[in-house]
Amino acid sequence: MDSKQRIANALKVATDTKVFEMGPGVSSMAPDVFKTFFPGKTAKIIADINTWPALGEKVYGLFVEAGIPTEKFIIMEKEFHAEWEYIEMVDKELDGGYIAVSVGSGVINDLCKLCSHHHGQQYLTLPTAASVDGYSSFGASISYQNSKQTFSCPAPVAIIADIDVIAAAPKEMTAAGYADLAAKVPAGAEWMVADLMGTAPIKPDAWHVLQDYLDDLLANPTGVAVGDPDAVADLFEGLTLSGIAMQAAQSSRPASCCDHLFSHILDMTHHRFNGKLQSHGFQVAIGTLTMCAVFDELFKMDLTKLDVEACVKAWPDLEEEQERALLIFKDFPAPKLGYECITKKYNDAPTVREQLTKVRDTWPEFKKKLQGQVYSFAKMRNLFKAAGAPYDPSMIGVTRQQLKDMFPIVQLMRHRINVLDLAKRGMFYEDLVEPVFAPGGAWEIL
Ligand SMILES: [Zn+2]
Repeated sequence: MDSKQRIANALKVATDTKVFEMGPGVSSMAPDVFKTFFPGKTAKIIADINTWPALGEKVYGLFVEAGIPTEKFIIMEKEFHAEWEYIEMVDKELDGGYIAVSVGSGVINDLCKLCSHHHGQQYLTLPTAASVDGYSSFGASISYQNSKQTFSCPAPVAIIADIDVIAAAPKEMTAAGYADLAAKVPAGAEWMVADLMGTAPIKPDAWHVLQDYLDDLLANPTGVAVGDPDAVADLFEGLTLSGIAMQAAQSSRPASCCDHLFSHILDMTHHRFNGKLQSHGFQVAIGTLTMCAVFDELFKMDLTKLDVEACVKAWPDLEEEQERALLIFKDFPAPKLGYECITKKYNDAPTVREQLTKVRDTWPEFKKKLQGQVYSFAKMRNLFKAAGAPYDPSMIGVTRQQLKDMFPIVQLMRHRINVLDLAKRGMFYEDLVEPVFAPGGAWEIL
């Protein structure tokens, strides 16, 4: 199946996005698309100091030439993340019936997405880098009250991806997007785990729209590293399909699990390296490799020997789990987060018995399926090396010990069941996590 066909199929399951144009020079189509969806409306081009010269100014000119009433808003900060103060800023800019035309990378798009939703409007996005999968996703990831949260809001009605611009983006941004796409490998495996445990059934539309092509779309990391237009187009397509998978699921489940949570911790603790905030994709790269290492360890285990009754007997009650969460999150910027999540995802002992029995009884086939999904740590690390993405936590200024210390928080910081929850239930959590950091392990602590 070629790219056009895949995209056409994806748009059929997309709930919000009606138009996806991708190719060299397609930004010239933006005025016509705007007129189709927003006849008679005033456009507001929203960009930042990097994306205005890269594309915003050109789009502004095209809109004016096409006779569309157009204004602009340029965020003048050198460095900014998706913080709530910018939501308030862009909300004000859209007061008075303006339609947002996002020209920028992930953060600008997320601001336009949530603010357009606040105004009950659709919007148009022109991405300037293949850096994240958020352009087409349902929901915006924003830091609010010390916590990285995904706010429910519709994806853009139209995405116009000019590959001339996207392939010329800084190399680190494209490499970051590669890692964000690669995260769907372990994220998919964790969805399979949650599916087997009966807490998050796999939605076929959301699964097939991306996962059927994921291996192919990740196959050219070297091309991504040199900004080859075809390789970058494949990457951008993969990121878009991932976003559409989230639209189809109305959740970020298809695109993120523990692989992303390490990054959320770094965001929430305002982590910097050499004075700089690290990109979403670079942080996700380390989470993704870590989860590949965890799966490597999982595959060494024989879960047909799980002593289900012993596990059920030792299974803590909700109050104990809540206390454990409060202790783990005591010094975290969101001290109640773990408590809230465990309260939502706690399963009682009979359910845990059912879950573990299923895992034990299907382990040989289930393991084979998981192995068909997830890449080994070694394979993923080689791909990241080739793509120019980080392949050691030190490359984003995180020590292996710090990474290890994040695990208890990662397990508990979302209400979704993950592979660490399975390990807790099956009493093999230590055996799963410790070897990753032990001598000979993927992140051996030296
Ligand atoms: Zn992501």
